[in-house]
Order: sequence, then C-alpha cells, then structure tokens
Amino acid sequence: MGSGQKTWGTPHHVLIFPFPFQGHITPMLKLAEVLSLSGIRVTFLNTHHNHRRLLSSPGVGARLASRPGLRLRSIPDGLPEDNPRGLTEATEIIAAFDATAPPLYRDLLSSGGADHDGAPPVTCVVADGLLRFAVDVAEEMGVPIFAFRTCSSSSFWAFHCIPKLIETGVMPFQDGCDLDEPVACVLGTESFLRRRDLPSFCRTKDSDDPNIRFLMDLTENSTRYRGVVFNSAEFAESIVLSHIRGKVRSTYPIGPLHGLLQAVEHSTGAVGDGGGDGIPSSDSTSLWQEDRACMEWLDARPTASVVYVSFGSVVPLGKEQLLELWHGLVNSGYHFLWVVRPDMIVDGGVPAVVAAGREERGFLAEWAPQQEVLGHPAVGCFLTHSGWNSTLEGMWAGVPMVCWPFVSDQLITSRFVSEVWRIGVDIKDTCDRAVVEKAVREVMAGERSAQMRAAAASISKTARESVEVGGSAFKNLERLIRDIIKSINS
Ligand code: UDP
Repeated sequence: MGSGQKTWGTPHHVLIFPFPFQGHITPMLKLAEVLSLSGIRVTFLNTHHNHRRLLSSPGVGARLASRPGLRLRSIPDGLPEDNPRGLTEATEIIAAFDATAPPLYRDLLSSGGADHDGAPPVTCVVADGLLRFAVDVAEEMGVPIFAFRTCSSSSFWAFHCIPKLIETGVMPFQDGCDLDEPVACVLGTESFLRRRDLPSFCRTKDSDDPNIRFLMDLTENSTRYRGVVFNSAEFAESIVLSHIRGKVRSTYPIGPLHGLLQAVEHSTGAVGDGGGDGIPSSDSTSLWQEDRACMEWLDARPTASVVYVSFGSVVPLGKEQLLELWHGLVNSGYHFLWVVRPDMIVDGGVPAVVAAGREERGFLAEWAPQQEVLGHPAVGCFLTHSGWNSTLEGMWAGVPMVCWPFVSDQLITSRFVSEVWRIGVDIKDTCDRAVVEKAVREVMAGERSAQMRAAAASISKTARESVEVGGSAFKNLERLIRDIIKSINS
C-alpha cells in the first residue's frame, strides 16, 4: 500500500460492520475509506436509520460514491422509527439488533446481499467488537474476522482486568470505599489510576451485574478474532498496548483514523474538496446536520480565545448540570461555542437563562463540524466528555482540554489526559460552576496553561508524524492490509 500497489483484480472484499452509534460509525467508516483507497473492495454495513441520516448531509454521498470499490449497504436495527436510540436505550438497541441482524448479515456473507450487484463474495469481516453475533456467524461460515474496538486501548485493558479487580476486592465497589485509592492491578504498582478512574461500569455494587458479565464476555471473545484493530496510537497508549499484545493474536493501533485517512488521501491523490458554503467538511461522517454558521462566528474571534464545548453524540444532560456548566463558562469570562444536541437535555429544553444569554458570550449549535472547529485558530480549549474520538480529535488539533467524563471509557481517558499526556484538567465527578470556571481559566491562561499548550502541540506533531508513510499508524495499517489479504488462504 505504501508503494501505491493496488490489489484490484484480486478477490479481496472486506465487510465493515459498526455498532449503530456515531462514535462507532465515524472511525469504522474512515477505515472503510482508507481500505478502499488502498485497493481493497469494501462493503460498509450500516442500519437503515443511520444510513439515511449519514446520506442526508450534502456532499457525504458524493464523497463516499467517489471512493473506489466502496459500497454502502444497510439493514434494519429492529427498533421502531421513533425510538431515540440514545445511550439510555443501549441495552434495548443491542437486544433488538441481536434479534434482527444475524440472518441478514449471514446472507451478506454468503451471497453478497440481496441485490446481487456482481460484487465478489465477502472474504473477510472487520466487525465492531460489541457485536457478539458477528463473530459467531463469521466463524460458522468460515469467514476470517477481525475486531474493531472504538474505545481507547486503556479501557479495553481495564475491561480485561475485571476478573483481577474482582479477585483483589476492588470490585464490586463497597459503600464508602475510597475512590481516590490507587488501583495497582491494571497498570502496575506505581499506578496513577485510582478507583474513580476505572470505566464507569466498574463502579457497580452488584457482583452479578449484567453489564460486567457482558464486558467480560466480550473481552474473552477477543481471542477468537484474527486480531484487534484500535483507533489508538502507539505514541499515546504504548504502556497499555504492550499488556494487550500478550492477550490477543494481533493488535493494529492505526489511529487517529481521521488523520490516517487524510494522509492516505494525500498519498493517493484523492484529496476531497468539501467545506465552504453550506457544504459539510469533506471528511464528514455526521449523522446530524452540521451548523456551519459557527465557523463564521469563530472567524470573528481572536486566536485561542474560545472554549469549544461538546459532550459527543449520546451523553444526556440534566437541566441542573447544564446550568452549572453554563454559569461556570459565563463566569470564566471567555467566549464559548457549545454543542447542545436537540435530544441532549433529559428534563426539558434549553433553560430560559441559557437561551437569553447566548448572544452575549456563547454560540449554541445543535451539531458542529467538530474536527474543523478544533482546527480553528480561535479555539483555545476543549471542554469535553472525553469520548475517545473527541479526545483523539483534540490531540490531533493540539487543543488542551477540560475533561468532564460522564460514562464508560471516558473516565479512564480523562485520567490519561491529565496525568499521562498532561494536556488538560480532569474534573470528573463534579459538576459545579466554580470548578468549571477554575478549570477553564487554568487551561486558557492559568499557571500551567503554557505547559499544557506545549504538550498538546507536541502530541499533535507526533500524531501527524505517526500517520505519514513510515510512521507507526501507517506501518500498522500496512500490516493489517497484509494480514487481511493473507487471511483468505489461512
Ligand atoms: N461530533 C461532531 N459534532 C458535534 C459533536 C460531536 O462531529 O457537534 C463528533 C465528534 O467529532 C466525534 C463524535 O461525534 O467524532 C463523538 O464521538 P466520541 O467518541 O467523542 O463520543 P460519543 O459520541 O461516542 O460519546
């Protein structure tokens, strides 16, 4: 691939199958585009619901249609159209999908799908590690399968350590246990990880928690795959990756995938020309309509003067939390651009004080072109929920962060941001206006601001080098492609 070698004319055909959430579709679609530009035929399998939303953004369909050998297919997710399909419905989504998708997926593997458009049979699957049935069906049909994990490698490793956490009495959490106590059995005795930094599922008090059983089951299943692809990077998670390497057959840290796609586009001459008036950025994978007016608003602001606030695609906020965050931001004195999704506030709409005050200091968008926003010179801080994609995008852009993690792997990622990469402040477990104000001020102009900015700039440079030809992500991609090709005959 690095030498521009194409595999057209060969029978390689990879099916890429994400879990139906934005944070899973984004990196897996980018992998689909990377593979297609590398000469591999790809079918990207979405749900009907998300397929329609993805293609409703102007420019996205055209971009995807221009990718050589990439076809999009969709199947029902088994949910009624009016289901909100948010974080609260995750268990319902998994159950409905498990009940609906396997026969259609099996059909795609055996016949290329109902439309029989002449595509050769699927020779390999890259499936989201959350889709347990994907590996069952692929094994039954003798199709080689790789897993794709969209979480950070550190949270994957923490899930792997659950049996040890139970054995050593860290889990289940007891009433009154010390959340600040270091947890040695995940990353060693000098661990900077505390009980409070473990993925949120670990906070269970129930020794028979179904979420924990689900996670342990998924982790055990990792050995059934040819390898595990991570949207992670050697430079960011090498300590953890070295632990994981002994437990799964192969690991492929090829992130940040949005950066890798840009590098592959340049190396193959396939640079997109999106962006500009009303057209989404060329690499958009948004399921929501991007509000591009926020880019003009940013254009009118001085360098590093704006706080960008986004809690990703699924986090719900209570009105009280929203108000604390709002007052903290207003009191910090900085301008801010805040993504408030229409489905985000659980107990009502945007409170009157926020709606009335927005003109003064804040721009509220329902959905923003996040990667472009983070790359805008006016943005000086990212107040984030520490979703893994958002964290990688912040690193790539070199923007220091205030982390307010909410659930799952976000809790461990925010600890890495503050203690390992030292590019931000972690305010987990507090939603208080004074704490928000202090953290924003610290990142924007406090004593440690210059250090955090320098560390963020350095990590951004390293990330960019890693995706170029000869860089670690690029080499891991080449190895993945070789292994996908080899898997047909082994
Ligand atoms: N995102 C976006 N516009 C927004 C908010 C989020 O494009 O206004 C994208 C963001 O760039 C990221 C994804 O949504 O790629 C969110 O994924 P992440 O893993 O950060 O969080 P999740 O949504 O899974 O909690």
